[in-house]
Amino acid sequence: MRLSRYFMPILKENPKEAEIVSHRLMLRAGMIRQQSQGIYSWLPLGKRVLDKVNAIIRDEQNRAGAIELSMPTLQSAELWQESGRYDAYGKEMLRIKDRQDRPMLYGPTNEEMVTDIFRSSVKSYKDLPLNLYHIQLKFRDEIRPRFGTMRSREFMMKDAYSFDLTREGAEHSYNKMFAAYLRTFDRLGLRAIPMRADTGPIGGKLSHEFIILADTGESEVFCHKDFVDFDIPGAHTDFDSVEGLQAIFDKWTSLYAATSEMHDEAAFNAVPEGGRLSARGIEVGHIFYFGTKYSEPMGAKVQGPDGKEHFVHMGSYGIGPTRLVPAIIEASHDDNGIIWPASVAPFDIVVINMKAGDQACDDTCELIYAALTKAGKDVLYDDTDDRAGTKFATADLIGVPVQIIAGPRAVANGEVEVKDRKTGARETMTIEAAINRFVA
Ligand code: ATP
Ligand code: MG
Repeated sequence: MRLSRYFMPILKENPKEAEIVSHRLMLRAGMIRQQSQGIYSWLPLGKRVLDKVNAIIRDEQNRAGAIELSMPTLQSAELWQESGRYDAYGKEMLRIKDRQDRPMLYGPTNEEMVTDIFRSSVKSYKDLPLNLYHIQLKFRDEIRPRFGTMRSREFMMKDAYSFDLTREGAEHSYNKMFAAYLRTFDRLGLRAIPMRADTGPIGGKLSHEFIILADTGESEVFCHKDFVDFDIPGAHTDFDSVEGLQAIFDKWTSLYAATSEMHDEAAFNAVPEGGRLSARGIEVGHIFYFGTKYSEPMGAKVQGPDGKEHFVHMGSYGIGPTRLVPAIIEASHDDNGIIWPASVAPFDIVVINMKAGDQACDDTCELIYAALTKAGKDVLYDDTDDRAGTKFATADLIGVPVQIIAGPRAVANGEVEVKDRKTGARETMTIEAAINRFVA
């Protein structure tokens, strides 16, 4: 991508409305724009990061055996009347009427709709277990939307829903998502700790919130320090192994970890003093097992091996991609801007032409840009005629992991500089060596 032809509206000044660093940096880097309170457009740079986050989420959901579909944002009120939640949900639900005066709503979540899909076609235990997910916009008319896309009214959610014949089956389904979440957040460069959580208005029996420790987090959390160094389940984890996944769950729930709603002071004080961590956190995921809470009122049942009908046991599993992007920034930035983990960086490499219009600099940059693009790298080429200082500041701000800098003096020697955004380390090398480093 040539910056001269891209759309990346950088802000020079710090936006006054931004209270936390991720919101400030997302606005300054031209990633998002607020359209009305708590409702955002994702501009091209932000969209690239969001897509990469979603690709990792999708990959890990698929690995764990969940199946992707797509459900609409607008739902009919009827389904919610069946479950009893149409009245229970309150003002967070945006209620709409269509031209026939039929009550509709902008979905805050999809338990009812997915249960309807399930009951319309699954009739036998032989079709279980089943886990269906989508990545879709949600709307909750939050009383206090704030911190940019961290707590917005319209936001994206990956929501998965599992169906099993028995409670034991449902626990295995829960454990699959538990392990998938550990892997997902790790690949996003984050350390998320599963904490015992309140089941809230969705209701249920077993529930964990996945929390990232951050000073700007809205939740107050208490946990054992050792979680910070626990091993993440590997790529070859067998998601069909009931014992294997139970062992992962047991290990990751063996030490104290709870949000303030579930906090047990006495249990926490039993943790040796040096192991106690009380901090602020950001909730990036939440999983629930809620049994037959929806399947009973909505009549979602299957024939069991005993020939009788059984209400299915369900769970739901959310991740917030549009919250994860600022959460990653909260965890990874410095005074100059964002520092993206390579897995979600909007571009892999930025090529900075320090003197656009200078033949040797132009030729060198074109050569590097073409070679790296051909090798499958996402490259941003800063070919604008801005001052070098402005270009360096922009490159640091948008947080691309590697900068290749071509200035007249180095280029005259057949060399460029390669800078690591995270460490700031710079290395001068031949043009060929710079290309080879990222092509090999
Ligand atoms: P919170 O406690 O932060 O209000 P919640 O418990 O209501 O969230 P869930 O229903 O568990 O949220 O939703 C699953 C995930 O969706 C959350 O873990 C979070 O990552 C994301 N999410 C929920 N509400 C918002 C929001 N207003 N803005 C952005 N992401 C959100
Ligand atoms: Mg929650």
